Amino acid sequence: MSETAFSAPTESLLREAEAFCGRRQARLTEQRRQVLGLILESPKPLGAYDLLDRMREAGAQSAAPPTIYRALDFLLAQGLIHKVERLSAFIGCTHALQPHDHDDHALHSVQFLICKNCGRAIEISDPAIGKALAAAAASAAFTLTGMTVEAEGLCAACVTAVGSAA
Ligand SMILES: [Zn+2]
Ligand SMILES: [Zn+2]
Repeated sequence: MSETAFSAPTESLLREAEAFCGRRQARLTEQRRQVLGLILESPKPLGAYDLLDRMREAGAQSAAPPTIYRALDFLLAQGLIHKVERLSAFIGCTHALQPHDHDDHALHSVQFLICKNCGRAIEISDPAIGKALAAAAASAAFTLTGMTVEAEGLCAACVTAVGSAA
């Protein structure tokens, strides 16, 4: 596979991700690195087939869905990406690379603001929302295993565009 050069900020995140995986006795193989790089480089969440197209464009003709899914599973397990269910697409998460808040990544409460117009997703990790959700679940005698909240609307750029078009 030919090595795709990503932008400098993405390359530096990939180096951090590589070191992060190393500390966890996991290996960011070339394929996993490529998938993560494409996700980090994209302004909006990418689906598995978008990734496949981009891998092939980058010269990985042999890339196939199972390899992409395996790479995605690995990256999800490491907390390096999240799945935005509403879009069936994946977004990079740099919280995992910040040592202070990835200890309990499974229950790291994540909220996505998804723009209905352009498809961008903004991750916010507001601990107050996580706490409120945990308290509400507890009072309903419900045990939480995940805390991903997806909300939709218009991003700042689209709200301006829609406003000026009206
Ligand atoms: Zn995250
Ligand atoms: Zn937008």
